[in-house]
Amino acid sequence: MAARRSNDDEGRELRVRVTELEARVRWLEQKLKKVAFAVKVKPDPSPKGPQRPRCPSCFGEVPKGQRERVCLYCGFSFDVVAPIKARRPR
Ligand SMILES: [Zn+2]
Repeated sequence: MAARRSNDDEGRELRVRVTELEARVRWLEQKLKKVAFAVKVKPDPSPKGPQRPRCPSCFGEVPKGQRERVCLYCGFSFDVVAPIKARRPR
């Protein structure tokens, strides 16, 4: 009789655990939907307005008003190429 009772207890315990797991799965599915929605509505990251000139060697942005004629990042000398201008977006 004692073994039978413990079987019933086990069955009840398993049902409780399954119910808990189903609730957790539902909660995770809702969370996943929210995350997927947030990813979809993400705004376009492309910047507006004229782009900063970039170093032709390392493509790092040249800071506004930089006086040195060499790249801050890689040391490329801008004098060896045509003067860089800010490009306008198309
Ligand atoms: Zn550079």
